[in-house]
Amino acid sequence: MNNKKRILSVYIILWITVLSVFNPIYVQATGVSGDDLVIALDPGHGGEEDGANYYGIQEKDLNLKLAKMVQKKLLEYQGVNVILTREVDEDVTLWERANRASKEGADILLSMHFNASVSHKSNGASVYISTGEFYKEKLMQLGDNLLGEFEFIGLSNAGMFARVTQMNGRRSDGSFDDYYGVLRHSYNHGIPAMIIEHCYMDSEVDKDYFNADEGLELLAQADANAIAAYYGLCKPNEVAQEAKHATVFGATTKAIERNYYEAPRLKSIFLKEYDGKTPGMATYEVEIEDGVGVSTIYLVYKNVVDGSTFTIYLNLEKSLHSGVHEVIAYFPSNLSIGECDLSYVGVYNEVGLDAGYNRYGGQMIGYGMCDWLNSFYYNGEADLNIMEKTNISPIKTDYIIDNIRKQMVYKRMPFVQPKVFGR
Ligand SMILES: [Zn+2]
Repeated sequence: MNNKKRILSVYIILWITVLSVFNPIYVQATGVSGDDLVIALDPGHGGEEDGANYYGIQEKDLNLKLAKMVQKKLLEYQGVNVILTREVDEDVTLWERANRASKEGADILLSMHFNASVSHKSNGASVYISTGEFYKEKLMQLGDNLLGEFEFIGLSNAGMFARVTQMNGRRSDGSFDDYYGVLRHSYNHGIPAMIIEHCYMDSEVDKDYFNADEGLELLAQADANAIAAYYGLCKPNEVAQEAKHATVFGATTKAIERNYYEAPRLKSIFLKEYDGKTPGMATYEVEIEDGVGVSTIYLVYKNVVDGSTFTIYLNLEKSLHSGVHEVIAYFPSNLSIGECDLSYVGVYNEVGLDAGYNRYGGQMIGYGMCDWLNSFYYNGEADLNIMEKTNISPIKTDYIIDNIRKQMVYKRMPFVQPKVFGR
């Protein structure tokens, strides 16, 4: 060993000694060690993606602000490290969010969001958990604690959901993938994950919770309390807080009130008549099976030329009960109907449960949504057939009808009755 090398090795040994002696001190000083619980907070959206936008507030900014507030509060506890999947206003893919959490050794990923609804009539807090079997119980418990906290600060409990994919994605165990990308990618990274929709940005009722600092403070405290109580975290010289529990559960509060947990079933849908104009009017015949009444049916057509989509809502003046119904729909203007292909049919019933029928690999495949305890089930009995061609205008309609006919083939899957859990 020459002199240079000797000096270098002495230097290295010294440095290792310094590190091993002082590293524990450093670890104590920051309160972070390798054994700590790692919470990944994922501020939803960012960069080009604004999320909801109401009262001059962009959801992406609100998500980040709240995540930082929750992070600060959680770091007051011992034995916990809190990381954010984005610290600034940037584009981060859903996969990358899960990947960043995974690299930091996250024990859980909580995706922070604020909600908005098409009708602008919804309000309250809701959580979406992964449908994956592996973390089900854990997520349901934390979800219960979060909803309990949200109820405590006066928000209405809009429910706990788990939603399966509308595409054909399956996990290796054969179960359906998660509908929400951030949950799907987290599950595939081995991280339990949940989306927290804190309240509705388009709701007058919820406005004070996101539009004022005091409101945001309440939300941040609710998140931190629930997480701390769930994991039994303590602040120095304090005991762990009791977890709060939700008082209402269910896919929706309505499902609880009405004690009904089944998604609607679309038996068939036929385009009977179409006047070929744009804007135009069409008549569809639908056969459904449902115990509380179907409140919404919508059809998504995809333009095969430019990939754009348009959605048609069937005009339901009142909810439809089991049986066959004729329903009209108005087509929006400026459409090249002949270039469009039916790609999806969505059905909601009065208690807010839905069934989706998605075109995949040339077939219409139906999925049902689950209730709050993850008992989702296959719902695919739709026969998307055109029974008769009477009174159908020839202009540009053959194509659309041909396509619907092509989609009549469907895959029959085992039907599993949804479990109804104790409430
Ligand atoms: Zn969002």
